[in-house]
Amino acid sequence: MKHVTIMGIPFLHTNQQSFVDLLDQRIQRGEKTFVITANPEVVMKARKDTQFMQHVQRATYVVADGIGVVKAASLLKQPLPERVTGFDTMIHLLEIANKKHYRIFLLGAQNDTLQKTVKKIEQQYPNIKIVGAQDGYFNWESNEVADSIAKLQPDITFVALGCPRQENWIANNLSKFNQGVFIGVGGSFDGIAG
Ligand code: UDP
Repeated sequence: MKHVTIMGIPFLHTNQQSFVDLLDQRIQRGEKTFVITANPEVVMKARKDTQFMQHVQRATYVVADGIGVVKAASLLKQPLPERVTGFDTMIHLLEIANKKHYRIFLLGAQNDTLQKTVKKIEQQYPNIKIVGAQDGYFNWESNEVADSIAKLQPDITFVALGCPRQENWIANNLSKFNQGVFIGVGGSFDGIAG
């Protein structure tokens, strides 16, 4: 697959639709996928923090979340087709999940936001099965949350802990999971909860 490397980070050369189709194919094949949607802030964080950079490099795909990354690629004369944001990817994945009756897990945000997000998804995407929801204020040292996700085997786990917490949490726990998409979606639950 074609990539454009910006400051050491390999960005997938894709657009929003092709990217969600790719994720769907991987779900159908039972593959495990770690997705980072990286904006310029993420790129700068990775430059400064070696451990975070190592986590970013463990991602299956890094996509350009932000016009700044798309512009940087153009300046390098290796243009990327368009930005692919965490929020838009989440909404597209929910649409696919609703069509295909996928099972999802929601991890992150304040509990009231999380409960509102659960309700909104249940109303708008009735065929999705939400197999679990955990707010983002749990003990990071404990394996409990990751272990329960590993047992539930959701097709998609949306991780809304903000950056770099969500990328670090996925990278640190990835080996426990056998399959499914794990994607950091920042403040997207707040957006959906309204
Ligand atoms: N969040 C969380 N646990 C934390 C810190 C933040 O679940 O320990 C959630 C927060 O409630 C919000 C989301 O992460 O829903 C994004 O937070 P923030 O806007 O601070 O992240 P950023 O803008 O840095 O991605």
